[in-house]
Amino acid sequence: MLRGLFRLILYAFLAYIIYLLIRFFQTLGKRSKSFSSPKRISGIMVKDEACNTYLPKEEAIKEMIDGKEYFFCSKECRQKFLEKKKTSGKP
Ligand SMILES: [Zn+2]
Repeated sequence: MLRGLFRLILYAFLAYIIYLLIRFFQTLGKRSKSFSSPKRISGIMVKDEACNTYLPKEEAIKEMIDGKEYFFCSKECRQKFLEKKKTSGKP
C-alpha cells in the first residue's frame, strides 16, 4: 500500500521533470528560430523611376500614379518624378 503510493509520487515527479524538459526545449527552439530569421527585409527590390536605382521595398516610398504603383528612394525623387510626369505627361 505504502510502496504503491511511493511509486505513484515517483511517477508524478518524473512526469513533472519531463514536462519541464519539454517546455525548456520548446522555449529554446522558439528563441533560436526567431533569432535566425529576421523578418524586416522581404528581399523584394523595387525600382526608383526617378534616379533608376533599385532599393528594398520596405525602405521605398510608395506612390500611386494613374493606377500604377511607383517606388522612390526619397521624397525628393518622388517630387522630381511627379513634376516630370506633369510636364511631359498628358496632352
Ligand atoms: Zn531616387
